[in-house]
Amino acid sequence: MTERSLATVYGYPRQGAGRELKKAIEGYWAGRVGADELRSTALRLRRATWSELTAAGLGEVPSGDFSLYDHVLDTTVMVGAIPERHRAAVEADALDGYFAMARGTQEVAPLEMTKWFDTNYHYLVPELGPSTVFAANPEKQLTELEDALVQGHNARPVLVGPVTYLLLAKPAPGVAADFDPLSLLDELLPVYAEILTSLRAVGAEWVQLDEPAFAQDQPQEVLDALAGAYRHLGGLADRPKILVAGYFDRLGDALPVLAAAPIDGLGLDFTGQASANLDDLASIGGLPGKRLVAGVVDGRNIWINDFERSLATLATLLGLADRVDVAASCSLLHVPYDVALETDLDPEVERWLAFARQKTAEIVTLTQGITQGTTAIADLSADNKAALRSRAESALTRDPEVRARVAAVTDADARRTHAYAGRAAVQRARLKLPLLPTTTIGSFPQTNELRVARADLRAGRIDQAAYDERIAAEIRDVLAFQEEAGLDVLVHGEPERNDMVQYFAEQLAGYVATQHGWVQSYGTRYVRPPILAGDISRPEPMTLRWTTYAQSQTSRPVKGMLTGPVTMLAWSFVRDDQPLGETARQVALALRDEVGDLEAAGTAVIQVDEPALRETLPLRAADRPAYLAWATEAFRLATSGVRDDTQIHTHMCYAEFGEILGAIDALDADVISLEAARSHMQVAYELAGADYPREVGPGVYDIHSPRVPSVAEITELLRKGLDAIPIDRLWGNPDCGLKTRGWDEVRDSLRNLTTAARQVREGR
Ligand code: GLN
Ligand code: ZN
Repeated sequence: MTERSLATVYGYPRQGAGRELKKAIEGYWAGRVGADELRSTALRLRRATWSELTAAGLGEVPSGDFSLYDHVLDTTVMVGAIPERHRAAVEADALDGYFAMARGTQEVAPLEMTKWFDTNYHYLVPELGPSTVFAANPEKQLTELEDALVQGHNARPVLVGPVTYLLLAKPAPGVAADFDPLSLLDELLPVYAEILTSLRAVGAEWVQLDEPAFAQDQPQEVLDALAGAYRHLGGLADRPKILVAGYFDRLGDALPVLAAAPIDGLGLDFTGQASANLDDLASIGGLPGKRLVAGVVDGRNIWINDFERSLATLATLLGLADRVDVAASCSLLHVPYDVALETDLDPEVERWLAFARQKTAEIVTLTQGITQGTTAIADLSADNKAALRSRAESALTRDPEVRARVAAVTDADARRTHAYAGRAAVQRARLKLPLLPTTTIGSFPQTNELRVARADLRAGRIDQAAYDERIAAEIRDVLAFQEEAGLDVLVHGEPERNDMVQYFAEQLAGYVATQHGWVQSYGTRYVRPPILAGDISRPEPMTLRWTTYAQSQTSRPVKGMLTGPVTMLAWSFVRDDQPLGETARQVALALRDEVGDLEAAGTAVIQVDEPALRETLPLRAADRPAYLAWATEAFRLATSGVRDDTQIHTHMCYAEFGEILGAIDALDADVISLEAARSHMQVAYELAGADYPREVGPGVYDIHSPRVPSVAEITELLRKGLDAIPIDRLWGNPDCGLKTRGWDEVRDSLRNLTTAARQVREGR
């Protein structure tokens, strides 16, 4: 037992129970909400969070983790690294300038946005160059800390650490691509020093610096930079105590570096495979003289904690550090706010779930367990055990039929009967497509009328039959346009789908949906990931009806359109009670049945999208081969049950395919379409360089922009593609689905695409 442990978290959902922040910010953008009103909503939400956390029993609450858009953008403001093109706007009005950096304006482009490590949160990428001049601007951090202290909370400012900040940055536009932002460390450190000193001056005892970049492999010079940075900051005279937190995986080589640094505490992740931190910590002799913040509660998944296991971990850790506090592994920003808001959940499943509020309570309970002894939490421990048992023994998580089927899977199930060359010949004979065939990625514009129809159906203003007729009419329109534009392989346009994962999750047994399980994706955009709670099976066909309807309306081939197993996992909350590969295999088998039904109904082309294959790549290189093995096997399991003359397509986006070329090959899809327009067909050259043997459709139309690409531009890209891929294996298609675009641009762009393909085909 220890008296010195306290409970804490690194950050909390920002939006408020009713997503008030989203409404206030969007209201401000639309001119309905004034700046003062927005600021006071933000203040009220921050105070409500602190009160809730302190009342729940946290001994230390985070401050400065709140954000009107993104905490990395806040860091950019804090260190004065405003890009040149935004400086005037920021100087004219700090708030409008801030949103201009986040979202762009008519005149200036926003900062680029990318994924925050392997989460589904997106941050705004800092743009730095040799002429960047940093300047301390700690106002946001100082005001929030002071307010928390005045409100009577024991607050600990949480900042993105200086090394991670630079590692997240990219060279500013116009700066040489090989410029290394980390070369600016010596200039950034004095700014962090100044910020730390001013935080100390207003009363910060501790300040947390997050360095999650060290959950990734880093070369020796970057580890040296980390050591240097904390030697510098640790050596400051008038500074608060420094807690460095690393999360999302084990710290690996960075652990001994930080353990030896002259800092006062370390926050480590002990969940999932990051629990390797435990052995690593023991092997370096622990953290004598330092505070350890133990992230034993999973900060990015929604399952209840296993108290017994966490208490055992904490007991071991108590022997390894001077003081051990209890926390979630990372900011609770990545989980929804409160399970209690859910009214439609099966009560059995509800017991298994912990969102931010419940996780906070778990952290407090575990802290009591180590400070007062386990008898003090006997009742809660018994409840925890019972809930875990109910989950382990539930028919939902243990469907004997699904398990038997997965166990019976053989290698042959995940392999097509013949190799591509043989398949291609029979597919050619069946499909009779021209050289350089054209197609789209699946979705057509999700018009306002479609959204209204869905809302009308939900609200009971129209019945299912009326809704279905609207969908059917939309499909007919989409098909008529594609025929007229001269596309070769058509799609039905996905008008019936709200979201490419949710649509399937709603139809698969074993998935659970929430009503209020919103998590921040970026800015004011929140998503509601479905929960992969149990064994997955497909009670009924999911896409057969609309696909066959579409095919009945045209004599050209209509592609069936499914979401692949990896993407189904990546954009859901996943099970933590079995390996991910096991869950992927279950999903794959359900999709395999759908593929089989589509084929039997006469569908000659079936696309299984895997846009998330690249993004779920593990942070550490050593973990990647195993991931890619199960991920590609799941795809093949879903798609290999078909005849030779059924053409399997797949699609990927979010660029940077270099690391997964081998995996792309291992999918054994007959045709793959990829995002490529902005990178000038780079991926076509990469695939050619790797001797990729099958058909490729590198995108020739950038769908992230409303710009209509001209016939000349598309022709040039197709010709570029032909330098890498022979004409009998090249397709013409956009970069991704068209659901976010408007009809006018889509019409013109696709007409230009088919014209360009025709010209290239005819050698003009
Ligand atoms: N078929 C999907 C669509 O066209 C693919 C979306 C994606 O790759 N993100 O919308
Ligand atoms: Zn895509």
